[in-house]
Amino acid sequence: MLVNLNEVLQPARANKYAVGLFNTVNFEMARGVLAAAEAQRSPVIIGTAEILLPFGPLEELAEFLIPMAKKASVPVVVHFDHGLSFEKCMEALKFGFTSIMYDCSTDTYEENIRKVKELVQIAHCFGATVEGELGHVGDNEGSAEGNSILNDPSIFYTDPAQAKDYLARTNTDALAIAVGTAHGAYKMKPKLDFKRIAAIRDLVDVPLVLHGGSGLSDEDFKHAIKDGISKINIFTDINVAAAQAAKKALNDGKNSMTDIIPYQITAIQSATEAKMRLFDSNNK
Ligand SMILES: [Zn+2]
Repeated sequence: MLVNLNEVLQPARANKYAVGLFNTVNFEMARGVLAAAEAQRSPVIIGTAEILLPFGPLEELAEFLIPMAKKASVPVVVHFDHGLSFEKCMEALKFGFTSIMYDCSTDTYEENIRKVKELVQIAHCFGATVEGELGHVGDNEGSAEGNSILNDPSIFYTDPAQAKDYLARTNTDALAIAVGTAHGAYKMKPKLDFKRIAAIRDLVDVPLVLHGGSGLSDEDFKHAIKDGISKINIFTDINVAAAQAAKKALNDGKNSMTDIIPYQITAIQSATEAKMRLFDSNNK
């Protein structure tokens, strides 16, 4: 069934598990992720990000993601991740996405509030939810998002008191926080600021989101969820699993696209199922 973020994240927050966002750029990825959700009886968030649109345009993705979500027997949120422009976020709402992450984290604090508050008012009229970002989750060198991580990323970490003020003024439904992760594959071992996660959780009453989760250890994930994370974004892991599957198919002597596709769907499904079990969203 097609739902918005509140319907999957409120129970997750109350019962201390996390729901994964698995970004998908094509039909095979969508099939793998949704097959995992059905097999694990897990709520799931599926979607794409503005930076990924060259690999799968918003309108075409919506044409199959939304019917697939409606048909699923588990709750599915169709989410637009890291919307960078107001126009693209509006397009996503019109195409039927039920949730938008509007990333104004590189704007000034006041500008972030002004822009996100406006989108929240519109999205709520559509019955859709909005995730904001406060502080800034950096990028590893060579990640899809380009920039290299700065020497001291902690200057961008989310301030708990500011998070409380931000949520009161924007009315966003979920908040991405910067606590030591970075987007893309890690060059060096990430170090999460768990105390900061717990401090934010204790001050605010909306679900918290961890971006840049690919490559964290299982222990890191469990600890972050215990301390208050309710949504975790995953892309690199399933993107790499699909590429490895194609390589394996070629090594197995398969040499056509229709021979490779089942390898990829299976690999995406099993990588997604592993994350669902780790996040404890299975059988929910
Ligand atoms: Zn992100």
